[in-house]
Amino acid sequence: MFTEILDGIMETPAYVAGWLIIGGLLLHVGLLAGGGARRLWFERRRGQLEQERLLLEIHGARLRIQTVEQAKSGWNGIRKFTVEKKVLECADTCSFYLKPHDSKPLPPFKPGQYLTFQLVLPGLSKPLVRCYSLSDCARPTHYRVTIKRCLPPPKTEYPPGLGSSFFCDVVKEGDILDVKAPNGHFFLDLEKERPVVLISGGIGVTPMISMANALVESGSTREIWFFFGARSGEDHMFKTYMAELAAKHPNVHMQVCYSRPHPNEVRGRDYHHEGRVSVELFKQLLPSNNYDYFLCGPGPFMQTITDDLRAWGVPDAWVHFEAFGPASVKRVAKPEDKAAAAAAPSAGFDVQFARSGKTVAWNTSFGSILDLADDKGVKIDAGCRAGNCGSCLVAIKSGEVEYLGEHGAEVERGSCLTCICKPKGPLVLDA
Ligand SMILES: Cc1cc2nc3c(=O)[nH]c(=O)nc-3n(C[C@H](O)[C@H](O)[C@H](O)COP(=O)(O)OP(=O)(O)OC[C@H]3O[C@@H](n4cnc5c(N)ncnc54)[C@H](O)[C@@H]3O)c2cc1C
Repeated sequence: MFTEILDGIMETPAYVAGWLIIGGLLLHVGLLAGGGARRLWFERRRGQLEQERLLLEIHGARLRIQTVEQAKSGWNGIRKFTVEKKVLECADTCSFYLKPHDSKPLPPFKPGQYLTFQLVLPGLSKPLVRCYSLSDCARPTHYRVTIKRCLPPPKTEYPPGLGSSFFCDVVKEGDILDVKAPNGHFFLDLEKERPVVLISGGIGVTPMISMANALVESGSTREIWFFFGARSGEDHMFKTYMAELAAKHPNVHMQVCYSRPHPNEVRGRDYHHEGRVSVELFKQLLPSNNYDYFLCGPGPFMQTITDDLRAWGVPDAWVHFEAFGPASVKRVAKPEDKAAAAAAPSAGFDVQFARSGKTVAWNTSFGSILDLADDKGVKIDAGCRAGNCGSCLVAIKSGEVEYLGEHGAEVERGSCLTCICKPKGPLVLDA
């Protein structure tokens, strides 16, 4: 009876419709639940994708910055250059025109900067690193460097310089050289308006030519006083160039000094002044001392000029110099600094050069460990003396060092770039 009634109810349309509604509701709830999970998954995935997109964007931006920086400042590591042309400029001095072996564009550089070469010399276990200033302004097709053979000090039996002799005697047109990108903090700011005095002795003229060319070729009318010192016409590199530069550009005042002219050399034709480039000469020729000064030449020459400029009242900030060799310029100490240095002549600890068997007291008057090594006759190879070329890297056996500025070269753990660091305390070096 009960089952009959139930069967009757189950056959009614209301019953069927009821189940249909319940089924529909269940389906809807199920779909909703499934949809929520899917939405959650989609949300999460979208978050992940968004994160990935942001990371890619950051990476892309980094790459773009890197590429722009590289295009601006050069390339990473070594690039091969072919010697396109080798020109004898004067006795023992040659210019090398270098074009990129990969034929890709050349990055520009700032006038005054240098290139670093890794030279593979027969008999040497590792490449010889040497820096040479760019001796022309930036050109789209090639770089130029000019190299003078480094002769031994007078009355010594030492052989002439390794790197410079290799360039003068061995390197020839068609050779391929390993070169690091232009670098250096000694450069002329082309954006500035101040008049300049370019002062050079001998091969120190190379960055000055780069600066003068960059200025005149940019159309600048900045006043340029160009002082160049040589012993005689024999050492007068770029003689024709200098005469033409002055003839073409009224803002260039060329002043060539010969310290020992040959009897057949005529003042006014071959050179302008007999004697050395000096601040006394500047006082005679320049209307005031209000210039930016750029100097490059032998150590003693630069020392005298910087001391005398200071005595003439030229602020240190207006004087810029590049040292090609060990004798870098030491600013004249003020009397109070001298007194302080005298009161504390030694820092109270030693630097030991283990291989050379030399132990010396560190003194605050030394600019860097390399200066100390030079002073004490300890031979440490050095290129740029600015922490960029890496050739003065020496292993530390014990102790710690402190860097005096930023360095471009990588420093291996447990080693130091002796040209731009000083000891923190007792130090033993493998040199
Ligand atoms: C930023 C910068 C830019 C430069 N730009 C130029 C440039 O434009 N043109 C240029 O010509 N130079 C330039 N130089 C100098 C150049 O880098 C080299 O220092 C120079 O060519 C000498 O290197 P070398 O290998 O020929 O001499 P090294 O082999 O290093 O010898 C140096 C001197 O030591 C002497 N010597 C050899 N053996 C001994 C020994 N046992 N004991 C003591 N002395 C010894 C040699 O006779 C020589 O006089 C630049 C330097 C710097 C830092």
